Amino acid sequence: MLSLTDSVGLLKGVGPKMAQDLASMDILTVEDLLLHFPFRFEDIKERELTEIADGEKVVLKGIAVSEGIVNHFGYKKNRLLFRLQQDGVVINVTFFNQAYLASKVILGDEIAVFGKWDAKRRALTGIKIIGSQSKEDYQPVYHVVKNLSQARLVKLIKEAFEQYSAVITESLPAQIIQQYELLNRETALYAMHFPKDEEVSQKARRRIIFEEFFYFQLKMLSLKEKEQQKKAGQRITYDNQKLKQLIQSLPFELTAAQKRVTNEICRDLLAPYHMQRLLQGDVGSGKTVVAALALYAVITAGKQGVLMAPTEILAQQHFVTLSQFFAAVPEVHVELLTASTKTKARRELLTNLANGQVNLVVGTHALLQPDVNFADLGLVITDEQHRFGVNQRKILREKGTFPEVLFMTATPIPRTLAITAYGEMDVSIINELPKGRKPILTKWVRPGQMSQVLQYVGEKLAQGDQAYFISPLIAESETLDLKNAEELFAELSSYFKNYRVGLLHGKMKNDEKEAIMAAFKAHELDVLVSTTVIEVGVDVPNATLMVIMDADRFGLAQLHQLRGRVGRGSKASLCVLVAEPKGENGKERMKIMTQTNDGFVLSQKDLEMRGPGEFFGSRQSGLPQFHLADLARDEELLDLAQHAAKELLQRHGELLTTSPLKERLAQQVFTSYFD
Ligand code: ADP
Ligand code: MG
Repeated sequence: MLSLTDSVGLLKGVGPKMAQDLASMDILTVEDLLLHFPFRFEDIKERELTEIADGEKVVLKGIAVSEGIVNHFGYKKNRLLFRLQQDGVVINVTFFNQAYLASKVILGDEIAVFGKWDAKRRALTGIKIIGSQSKEDYQPVYHVVKNLSQARLVKLIKEAFEQYSAVITESLPAQIIQQYELLNRETALYAMHFPKDEEVSQKARRRIIFEEFFYFQLKMLSLKEKEQQKKAGQRITYDNQKLKQLIQSLPFELTAAQKRVTNEICRDLLAPYHMQRLLQGDVGSGKTVVAALALYAVITAGKQGVLMAPTEILAQQHFVTLSQFFAAVPEVHVELLTASTKTKARRELLTNLANGQVNLVVGTHALLQPDVNFADLGLVITDEQHRFGVNQRKILREKGTFPEVLFMTATPIPRTLAITAYGEMDVSIINELPKGRKPILTKWVRPGQMSQVLQYVGEKLAQGDQAYFISPLIAESETLDLKNAEELFAELSSYFKNYRVGLLHGKMKNDEKEAIMAAFKAHELDVLVSTTVIEVGVDVPNATLMVIMDADRFGLAQLHQLRGRVGRGSKASLCVLVAEPKGENGKERMKIMTQTNDGFVLSQKDLEMRGPGEFFGSRQSGLPQFHLADLARDEELLDLAQHAAKELLQRHGELLTTSPLKERLAQQVFTSYFD
C-alpha cells in the first residue's frame, strides 16, 4: 500500500546521497516533497518580440537553428553564440563566459533562455538556460541545495505525482469545497508545481492557503467552545440604572467607540459564558474610562474587581485615576496593592479583600501572592496584557470562580494578527479619540538639522515644558544601546547646562527605572534621555516634545507607541524623527509617520513592510507558522476560512470526530492562552 508518509527514498532514482540532500531541506516523506512548493515561476509563454522593452529581462523560447559556437578571447574569456527561431523570427543569443552551456544547445530542440533583451539588435544576452523540451509556460523554480539541480527536483516531483496521485486524499469536507469553490487537494497540489496557466496557479494557492487557515481556525474555535462549556462563567446582573447615572455624571460624553465597547463588555457580563475580551485602543483613546465603567458594573452586582498593571508606576497612576473617578461614588472602595505596600497596611487590605469590604483593588504582580484572596471576584482587568505571562494571568483568574477577564492594550494589532494570535478571545476596538484632542504633530528631519531641533527644544524648556529624547536602537546589542544612550545623555547634559537631564535605560533595576520616571513625572527633570524601555502608559502631561534619534531603525508600531508618550495634556505636542534612511522603504516609513496618527493604519503598514514575525518581536509571538499563507496579504481568505470553520462547528460539529478532520486537528499545533 502506497502512502504519502512513505520515505522519499522509495521513489525511483533517489539514492542515499540524494535522500540526504532532500533531508537537509526537511523533505523526508513523499508528502514533504509534494509540499515543497516552488517559490516562483519563470513565465516562458511566448511573447511578441515587439512588446518586449529594451533591456527587459525575459524568457524566450524557440527552436535552436544553429549549434552553439564558442569563441575564446582574451585571458579566460569566452563567448557562446547560437540562434533561436521563434515564429519565423531568428534571434541571436550570446552567453559570456558560460561555454559549458554549449552542450545544451542541440540543433532542432526547443530551448528556453532567460536573458536581457536588446531591442535594437533583436538579440538576447543570455543569463541562463531554463530547461528544454518543456510544454508548460510556467517553469517552477525551487529552493534547492547545492548538489541538487532544479531539473532533478522537478523530475522527482513529477515522479512522485505519477506514483502517488491515487493516494492524495481530500482533506476538506466536500460541502466546504463546493461552497467556497475550491480546487480539490490533488489538483491543487499538482497545480502548485505545474500550473497550466496563471489562473490555475492562483486557484491552487487559494485552496492551499484556505486549508491552512481553516484548520487553524477550526482548532482554535473548538478549543474556545470546549473552554466555554467547561467553565460556565458567571452571570453578572449589574445595576444598569446606576451605571447609566455614573456615565451621565462624567464631565464628558463618551465617544461612540467607547459606548460601543462598553456595551460589548456589558453584554458579556450578563451572558452565562466566561468573558475573554481583548480591548485595543490607541494611547489616550479612553480605555481606562471604559475599564472603570466595567469595574463599576461588577461592583453594583455585589462583586469585586481587579485592575492589574505591569509596573508600580502604572499601578499607582491607575489608582489615582480610579480614586478620582469614584470619588463621589460611596459604594466603591478602592485600594492599591504593590510590592511597596507596607506590611501592616497590606495585612489590613488582605482582610478586607477576603471579607469583601474592599471591592476594587489596583495593583501589580503583588496581587498574585497566594495569600491574596477575594470574597467574590467578578472581573479581572489586565493592562498591557502582553507583559504578563500565561501563568500569571492564570493565577489571578483562579482566585475567583472564573471571573470575567478583560485585557487592555495600547498596541494596535492588525486585524489578521489579532484573529490568529488572540483568536480565542473576542476583540473590542476603540478606534476614535475623544473630541478636541490636540493631535501630535510629527516632523521628519535629517541629522544635519539637529542644531535647529536643539534650539527649538531649548525654547520650549524655557517655557517650562519637558522633553523626551529616545536614543538609537541597535537591536542586536543591549550594551551598544546603552552606550548610545549614555553618549546622547552626555551631549544633551552639556548642551542643556541649565536644565536637569535624566537617563533611563534597560540595564537599570526596576526600582531605579521607576524612580527616574517618577522624577520626570514630578518635573524634577526637564529632559529625559531614554532607550525604548520608557513605559507605555505613563502620563506626563507636561511633556510636549519627543525627539527620536535614528528613527528609521524602529518599526512603525513602535514609533507610534513612543510618540504616544507626548500629547497627553492640553498643550500642542511635537514629535521629531531624526533620520537619514538609505532605502526607499525607510523614507516611505518616515513619511507615513508624519502623515497619520492612526495606530491601526500604521500597524497594518508595519505588518506589510516587515512581516508578522517582526511585528511582535522575539518576546512574544504566539503566532502560528503558516506554510504559504501570509497574514499581511491574505486577509480575505482568512475571513473566508474563519467563516467556514464557524459554520462547520455550528452546523456540522459531528464532522469533528470523523476523518479527515479528526487527524488534521490532532496535528494542528497551537499554543493556547487557556491552560
Ligand atoms: P487610555 O487608557 O486609552 O490611554 P485614558 O482612559 O487614560 O486613555 O484617557 C485619556 C484621557 O482622556 C483621560 O484624561 C480621560 O479622562 C480623557 N477621556 C477619556 N474619554 C474621554 C471622552 N469621551 N471625552 C473626553 N475626554 C475623555
Ligand atoms: Mg491608559
